[in-house]
Amino acid sequence: MRALVIGEVNANGIKQTAASLVNAAVKAAGVADMFLLGQAQAACDEAKTFAGVEKVFVNPDSGENILSESLSKAVVALVKEHGYSHVFFEASSIGKSVMPRVAALLDVAPLSDVTAVVDAHTFVRPIFAGSIDVTLKDAEPVVVASVRATAFDPCEKTGSAEVVMYQGMPETMKTRKVSFEAVKTDRPALQSARIVVAGGRGLEDEEGFKKLAQLADRLGAAIGATRAVVDMGLCPNDWQVGQTGKIIAPDLYIAIGISGAMQHIAGIKDAKVVVAINNDPEAPIFEVADYGLVMDAKAGIDALLKELN
Ligand SMILES: Cc1cc2nc3c(=O)[nH]c(=O)nc-3n(C[C@H](O)[C@H](O)[C@H](O)COP(=O)(O)OP(=O)(O)OC[C@H]3O[C@@H](n4cnc5c(N)ncnc54)[C@H](O)[C@@H]3O)c2cc1C
Repeated sequence: MRALVIGEVNANGIKQTAASLVNAAVKAAGVADMFLLGQAQAACDEAKTFAGVEKVFVNPDSGENILSESLSKAVVALVKEHGYSHVFFEASSIGKSVMPRVAALLDVAPLSDVTAVVDAHTFVRPIFAGSIDVTLKDAEPVVVASVRATAFDPCEKTGSAEVVMYQGMPETMKTRKVSFEAVKTDRPALQSARIVVAGGRGLEDEEGFKKLAQLADRLGAAIGATRAVVDMGLCPNDWQVGQTGKIIAPDLYIAIGISGAMQHIAGIKDAKVVVAINNDPEAPIFEVADYGLVMDAKAGIDALLKELN
């Protein structure tokens, strides 16, 4: 058995989560190769060191302008050429777009959001917004899966894989990318931040979110939000944490004015320490919080900032 791991690359090199993805793949198949989506030298240098990885495929045409339709064909070509038993994607927006296409082209059923590997064909994944974990047998000839990287530790960096140039990217005639606009922020990325401060409806208004930003800046934290405040237009969509937002696993999650609906909690199940500030002592968030402060959200932020300063 041998897995193909799809490694995403960003401006700083390979995504931090890639090492966790490799760990999951090696647990399932014993050994893995990587296909890097992008050609940054730093990404390649790091991917080479991932324990369990034997080959790193680099394609000069697989950068940010490439479409899912082309990528999926390239991945399928690699699977057919090398006979991979497993293809693992991160459960990211790229993974969610390319993984089902690859499964369809290989005529197998895809498996999404894997959170544990039991053996080569047995996996655990959450259902019903994370309230139940199911264990599934995947009997397909090729296991095509997306993996929640936050559920796995990163692999060791003791490897020395061979780098292989993989030339050519299948064309797609029907669509082409017209432009690509990355959101620029000085804050850490939500999905890899060690500390996340998040706001909900209890922060009430723009003033509340300005205070939240001050706290985030003071702590060097990323900012998260509930769907309710995203829908209210108080913060951008990419801040949303939860079932239909981002799944995160920071060391510290500070939830301010957030009720703790199960769809929100689905996104922070792997957070190590949860702190909640809410003026309702009965709020469900306190059931999952390690530390709770029953007080007004804005006053709570002011008190924290005073202590920190
Ligand atoms: C299919 C589906 C998917 C969903 N996906 C997501 C998702 O991905 N992420 C997500 O977050 N939600 C999601 N939701 C919505 C979710 O069900 C909740 O509605 C949402 O999380 C509630 O957001 P909230 O906690 O900000 O608001 P509320 O539930 O209104 O809670 C506000 C909290 O603030 C407290 N509060 C009020 N005033 C103050 C104050 N002055 N000081 C301190 N505390 C105060 C209140 O006591 C309350 O606990 C989804 C819903 C559905 C149906």
